[in-house]
Amino acid sequence: MLQQTQVKTVIPYFKRFIKRFKTLKSLSRCSEKRILKLWEGLGYYRRARNLLATSKVLVGKYNSKLPKTIKEIKTLPGIGEYTASALLGLVHNQPTIAFDGNVKRVFSRIINKKESKINFDYFIEINKKKLFNSKRNSDFVEALMEFGALVCKPKEPICSICNLNKNCKYFKSSKKIKTTKYKMIENINYDVFCYVNKKKQIALTKKNNLGFLNQFSLPEIREAKNNVRTSDWKFLKKYKNSISNKKLNINLYYKFSNKIPSSFIWHSMDKNKEFIPTFTKKIFRQVSTLF
Ligand code: SF4
Repeated sequence: MLQQTQVKTVIPYFKRFIKRFKTLKSLSRCSEKRILKLWEGLGYYRRARNLLATSKVLVGKYNSKLPKTIKEIKTLPGIGEYTASALLGLVHNQPTIAFDGNVKRVFSRIINKKESKINFDYFIEINKKKLFNSKRNSDFVEALMEFGALVCKPKEPICSICNLNKNCKYFKSSKKIKTTKYKMIENINYDVFCYVNKKKQIALTKKNNLGFLNQFSLPEIREAKNNVRTSDWKFLKKYKNSISNKKLNINLYYKFSNKIPSSFIWHSMDKNKEFIPTFTKKIFRQVSTLF
């Protein structure tokens, strides 16, 4: 849940999940529809699907326990090198470091060398005696992440209160390295076309090829291109919507019609039992202004 999402946003979702799913087994038995409904509004819905898929594998193959090798952990849906390393440290107290952007930045500053010039595996190998000199590997993994997020921050590291400043080359150097920027913001223009009817319903389809919202209920969406005919649609408004590292500039169009293409289904804009992504809910809000 915390991937790309702030703690304060996650807390109510996490509490609801823990209340609803007391055991891994109960999570593994839940339907994807129900999981997505509980996840509604948190975004990055692939995480919810992977969580469900992973719970099924853990229950079915590993007796509801996390496997103990990085190789096995990495076979679980949605778990790559970083998460596997974090889990190995946090759950099994193994000597490991989870290299996310924060942690890479900390090490690169301590030795004042650009991240792109550091072989982090080699770095761990030659420093492992110094790095893993306590039995609290689990705390070490967590502490490194927190340290990068709270003290050795991306823009303004708080060096004056940092316990490492005596040994930090970045702090001492007059030629400080520049911090790597991870997020490439992508600006994309989309035309969104909404079929609407007098019952305050909007037609949505799951057939879309929008990678970041694939398989979710959406109106018709096309990347905006010059000279594409939109004349049989009425323009409603222009607005912005951010999803992960994408900034979407939306041109919203609508058409009152009772006829819709066969892959579309009418949805009420007021009440929906099924999961509706926040992206679509924002469209609902705009289209509701027509009534
Ligand atoms: S002294 Fe500053 S740059 Fe060095 S590790 Fe501490 S916070 Fe980061």
